[in-house]
Amino acid sequence: MSTAEQLETTADYPRLFEPLDLGFTTLKNRSIMGSMHTGLEEMPDGFERMAAFYAERAAGGIGMIITGGISPNEEGGVAVYDEHGNPVFAASKLNTDREAEGHSLVTGAVHTADPDVKIVMQILHMGPLAHNPNLVAPSKVRSRISRLTPHELDVEGIEKQIADHANCARLAKEAGYDGVEIIGSAGYLLSTFLVEKTNQRKDEWGGSYENRMRFPLEVVRRVRATVGDDFIVIFRIAAMDMLQGGMSWDEIALLAKELEKAGASIISTHFVWHEASVPTIATMVPRAAFTGVTARVRKEVSIPVITSNRINMPEVAEEVLERGDADLVSMARPMLADSEFMNKAATGRRDEINTCIACNQACLDHTFSMKTTSCLVNPRACHETMLSYEPTTAPKSVAVIGAGPAGLAYATVAAERGHKVTLFDAADEIGGQFNLAKRVPGKEEFHETIRYYNKMLDKLNVDVKLGNRVNADDLRDQGFDHLVVATGISPRVPSIKGVDHPMVVGYIDAIMGRKPIGKKVAVIGAGGIGFDVTDLITHEGPSAALDIDVFAREWGIDFENHPRGGVTGVEPQVARADREVYLIQRKSTPVGRGLGKTTGWTHRTTLGRRGVNMINGVDYRLIDDDGLHLMIEDKPVSLDVDTVIICAGQEPLRELYDSLEGAGVSVELIGGAFEAAELDAKAAINQASWSAAKL
Ligand code: FAD
Ligand code: NAP
Ligand code: SF4
Repeated sequence: MSTAEQLETTADYPRLFEPLDLGFTTLKNRSIMGSMHTGLEEMPDGFERMAAFYAERAAGGIGMIITGGISPNEEGGVAVYDEHGNPVFAASKLNTDREAEGHSLVTGAVHTADPDVKIVMQILHMGPLAHNPNLVAPSKVRSRISRLTPHELDVEGIEKQIADHANCARLAKEAGYDGVEIIGSAGYLLSTFLVEKTNQRKDEWGGSYENRMRFPLEVVRRVRATVGDDFIVIFRIAAMDMLQGGMSWDEIALLAKELEKAGASIISTHFVWHEASVPTIATMVPRAAFTGVTARVRKEVSIPVITSNRINMPEVAEEVLERGDADLVSMARPMLADSEFMNKAATGRRDEINTCIACNQACLDHTFSMKTTSCLVNPRACHETMLSYEPTTAPKSVAVIGAGPAGLAYATVAAERGHKVTLFDAADEIGGQFNLAKRVPGKEEFHETIRYYNKMLDKLNVDVKLGNRVNADDLRDQGFDHLVVATGISPRVPSIKGVDHPMVVGYIDAIMGRKPIGKKVAVIGAGGIGFDVTDLITHEGPSAALDIDVFAREWGIDFENHPRGGVTGVEPQVARADREVYLIQRKSTPVGRGLGKTTGWTHRTTLGRRGVNMINGVDYRLIDDDGLHLMIEDKPVSLDVDTVIICAGQEPLRELYDSLEGAGVSVELIGGAFEAAELDAKAAINQASWSAAKL
């Protein structure tokens, strides 16, 4: 693209595309890909896969990339164990020249993709959250979210940790990185020095705040002295740590000023410790909810400041910069969802951006389950060397029946590869069950996925036939070379006596508001949909995801006065609908245990605060005019309810496939129609994309 073209096209987002002069180097725009651990770091071919992953983001227009966290030594990292039980650190550690060689594969690939893109390595010493037998911390205080108690550092140990940070930064420079980001937040080593609860030392490294700041400041000074002036040093602080009794505003402001003096080039604002009980990036968090906190930090320093969290579209980033909340905007998960985000924003293609919906299902949930990170809406993320959508050499005429997530993913991948695709759906809009999901408070982002697919179907010339319920005869003699059945599911009707009683409502009718819901409700089935439906019927007023004041009230955050941690002494206030609700399952496990690893607790907490009665271990007996009758631990229990909503899972809808199979046509089955149990949109899109890539 010529410079003139670029100037013209970036006019939609002038601030986002404004370069930033750091004195010794210039960032080409204000966008940063935030640090994410991908799981590639631990793989034998991790450097090659990380090189492909980051290079694709560099080519996609991002200004600066911050890698996943790399430990400066063994005690700060995550050990995976070999067959002899010895800890192995693979690419997640950098303290030897050999490891630096591996990293240079990554930096080389990024600078080849675009020499103007900066790549910065995050130095992450996990301190008491490390997973290895030699973990260390300022004091012997176990984190609430770890099973391991750290060893208390002695003075020599502290000196070693500082020296290891400096050595790691030196090696990062040798490996071709443009800078390092030192993480001083989230409950990792540096942040545990800052807080009294985790730093109970009586020597010069603990006690007064001045002493507690000494370790992180000394790390920055030593790193700066080692790498010289022409190297980016970012420090990530917890600008609001969300902990009861956490850091006060004065402490944060002082730390920011001292970090500037110690040699940091940029301050990045983070908004959490991992053990905090406030969601900060999940889908119910409003877009850009925390940037006002960054704005306050920005007033305290003269170096640039980065903001982050739930900034997932270019106009959101632009508004944040326009308000002066930050100098730079970090977007981590949006770079999983769409590597081309910035190029699309630059060239008037905003509607082609595949938006991160903040579900965490394939990114953070995977990371915390020790699985490779990916993305629900983009299964290529972190699989760039394995899943590619190459142009076909043998174009086919393909019919896809069903425009839910599975059919949409198949149709767009096949069309992108050059196949001629016709997409049918019985409904008069695309999206399948996403049209139900988007009505749930906190799931408004699902609209974006539907918007994205609408745009891509149009761009890729997919022939979309809506309001078209297809049977096998309809497909005959239309000349299709290949049929893809993506007809989804039908809700399961459990065989409970009285399930046909007038008080019984299916979840689709409940979500669509097609049938009245009474004041006393039993929800049968406590899976994802049972929780969503219960959320919908117990919620009152605007969705927290769309209103920062509601969000702040519901989770007990005081953005205005910033008490310690932003939450100390602030009681959550829940706007609860006037309804008594029972959420019920047969399993004896705690209700909601099967929900997302990193988000399940937010749903359980929300419904718990709204007074929902969660009941497990039931045996359903009867629904009649007196309500729902159950057995719990062999005792009869009757719930006096006026509505029973069925959320008891789904069955595959495969009549169409059954009538096509064996009829001498090339046909395949995907999504919920293929397998309804354990199916979610992540599985549906993933299966469809891999399959369409092979067609
Ligand atoms: P569907 O989405 O069911 O799409 C099938 C399509 O086929 C429909 O549009 C239907 O009209 C069409 N069709 C059927 N028969 C025919 C025919 N004969 N001719 C033409 N068209 C036909 N998943 C997640 O991963 N995360 C979530 O947070 C999440 N939240 C959810 C919330 C709710 C309230 C609901 C209901 C679901 C949620 N899901 C979620 C589940 C997710 O939406 C499904 O797993 C996904 O939609 C399945 O995709 P699919 O394409 O296989 O089927
Ligand atoms: P689900 O997660 O499988 O839950 C079905 C529920 O119905 C379970 O609680 C099950 O519990 C109960 N059940 C199953 N068979 C029953 C029967 N015969 N009689 C009575 N109860 C029965 O399915 P879902 O809630 O329908 O969700 C569908 C898919 O969408 C899931 O894969 C889910 O992950 C996904 N989804 C995800 C989210 C999310 O936020 N990530 C949100 C919504 C949906 P018992 O067997 O113990 O009774
Ligand atoms: Fe965003 Fe969900 Fe993809 Fe994670 S999995 S990047 S939260 S869309």
